Amino acid sequence: MPAGYIIGGDEGWNQGWTKLVGPGLDVEKIEVAAMALGIAAAAVEDAWGYAEERVQFGRPISSHQSIRHLLAEARTQLLAARLMTYHAAGLLDAGEPAPVETSMAKLFVCDTAKDIVLSMQQVMGAYGYVQDFDMERYVRDVLAMPIIGGSSAIQRNNISNRLKLARE
Ligand SMILES: Cc1cc2nc3c(=O)[nH]c(=O)nc-3n(C[C@H](O)[C@H](O)[C@H](O)COP(=O)(O)OP(=O)(O)OC[C@H]3O[C@@H](n4cnc5c(N)ncnc54)[C@H](O)[C@@H]3O)c2cc1C
Repeated sequence: MPAGYIIGGDEGWNQGWTKLVGPGLDVEKIEVAAMALGIAAAAVEDAWGYAEERVQFGRPISSHQSIRHLLAEARTQLLAARLMTYHAAGLLDAGEPAPVETSMAKLFVCDTAKDIVLSMQQVMGAYGYVQDFDMERYVRDVLAMPIIGGSSAIQRNNISNRLKLARE
């Protein structure tokens, strides 16, 4: 292929990772974070509604402090995850390089989404486990989020390396 086809011209030679793959992976990290966020948001909505409807021993389970705390915690985690995602996505939208912020968002949002969904499954008891409810699918789907698009360990590597944490 003629050299004139090199993206970025002569200066783009041997710069594929820096100019193309790296920024592409930054976008992928936010895509996966957004998927995790959506799954977690759906799980909170479903568990919240279920807790208000499900009556055990004459009371909706949403009246129990243990259930209320799980749901309050999940809403709080969800907001933090949303803000992390929007912050990193906003940087990319503005054309700013954001390798650290996108790794932080991928790490935090995917791990937090997993915590949220497993907690919401507990709220629904056995109905969070059977295939008659969407929660079972949310659990299966969210478990992949800290693995795909660069595992959580790889994001920790990215963050510490990019921030030049000394090795010696
Ligand atoms: C549903 C799904 C969809 C996917 N879609 C795509 C896709 O569209 N395109 C694509 O290219 N790939 C895709 N993948 C692959 C995905 O990106 C990889 O599975 C992921 O990057 C992890 O790689 P691996 O499975 O080889 O695990 P490994 O790299 O073998 O990792 C296994 C474990 O070792 C840890 N580990 C590995 N290296 C290090 C290190 N240097 N430091 C610390 N810990 C480390 C990991 O964190 C993990 O815990 C998909 C995977 C799944 C499950």
